[in-house]
Amino acid sequence: MTLPTLPQSISGGLSRRNFLRAAAASSLLAGIPYVTEAHLAHADIPKFAPSDQGIHIDANENPMGPSEGAQKAIAAIIPKGGRYLFDKEIGFSDLFAQQQGLDPSMVIAYPGSSEPLHLAVMAYTSPTRPLVVADPSYEAPMYAAMATKAPILKVPLADPRGAAINDIPAMLAASSTPGLIYICNPNNPTGTVTPFEQIEKAIDSVPKDSVVMVDEAYIHFSDAPSCIPLVKQGKNVVVLRTFSKLYGMAGIRMGFIVGQPDTLKKIAALGGQNPLPITAVAAARASLLDPSLVPTRKKIMAGLREENIDFLRSQGYTVTPSVSNCFMLDVRRPGKQVKAALAAKEIYIGRVWPAWPDSVRITVGTQAEMSAFQKAFVQVMQSNTAGLEPAPLHPRMREMPFSQVS
Ligand code: PLP
Repeated sequence: MTLPTLPQSISGGLSRRNFLRAAAASSLLAGIPYVTEAHLAHADIPKFAPSDQGIHIDANENPMGPSEGAQKAIAAIIPKGGRYLFDKEIGFSDLFAQQQGLDPSMVIAYPGSSEPLHLAVMAYTSPTRPLVVADPSYEAPMYAAMATKAPILKVPLADPRGAAINDIPAMLAASSTPGLIYICNPNNPTGTVTPFEQIEKAIDSVPKDSVVMVDEAYIHFSDAPSCIPLVKQGKNVVVLRTFSKLYGMAGIRMGFIVGQPDTLKKIAALGGQNPLPITAVAAARASLLDPSLVPTRKKIMAGLREENIDFLRSQGYTVTPSVSNCFMLDVRRPGKQVKAALAAKEIYIGRVWPAWPDSVRITVGTQAEMSAFQKAFVQVMQSNTAGLEPAPLHPRMREMPFSQVS
């Protein structure tokens, strides 16, 4: 079969070899859907509790939503919704590259970072090349590794009751031939930061045909240095960025993968390059061009987060030292009971990670949402929650392989 030649930017370097690889990969992928935070957060709340009912501090969303500039940009582009506007898509991705001092070939935009996350794991792991992840950390890479039948090596966080950071020496020791090492920085669910020097060491240590993936979904909330400059230096790392967190665009959908051009080609070849929604491009562009957005929102988040962490500590609870929009709260009893008891009051908190069964993840919401949470939490902790269980999985969620990686 002769394949038409596509421009590089569209094909992601879709050579015949890559095409066959993609076909083989998609057959492996059969039955393993992408798993996102939205799926994981909503897996066990009753009947997908309506989003406009109750308090949702379960999915690390940003209640501030898209910025005013982003909303205006969406409204302005709507009349052009009958067109693909490919030039705007490319221009947007080039803008990010320019802002980061990168060559445009080092950046690909996707509707959210879940897709490139999944594709990167698909591209680099296999039955003989494991996925190495911290525990607890974001689970999506583990679901992707199920598609390639790669061994999943979970490495407990170092100093779990203190700094709770990725244990880089142990992650490096986990395999001499890792396929992909996933480092979420700041980590979801703990909100804690792994020192830059340690991440750089991991990047410098892995074999050339492996890759380190640094997921910077929450980096804007923190002072942690980004690993994007390491891409610029030619290092073997891919970095994920999303507009779902600080930029408040989880429902609008936009994200980036950043890496060496050859690495990105290998990853992009496993998926399509579906045109991006022009509304998302417009909103994300406006967000990138607003220099006050990150510092303003970071400050608001820090204020709310610290207020809540202080409150919980004053009540005698242990909370991870988060610099993000979520933290882990040790409830000193099965976290699932506390989650179920709060859900009965229509306060939906985050999930429980099997490695830390007595902790729950709390997303920092608005002041009003957090006041309601605090009140309900105190009541729940004074009550007997024994025997309470979260709602059974929603029928759509039963199709997901949730239990298999936990
Ligand atoms: N990475 C991490 C660590 C996340 O927590 C999330 C979402 O919560 C994502 C990636 C993916 O987000 P999205 O697909 O909305 O960009």
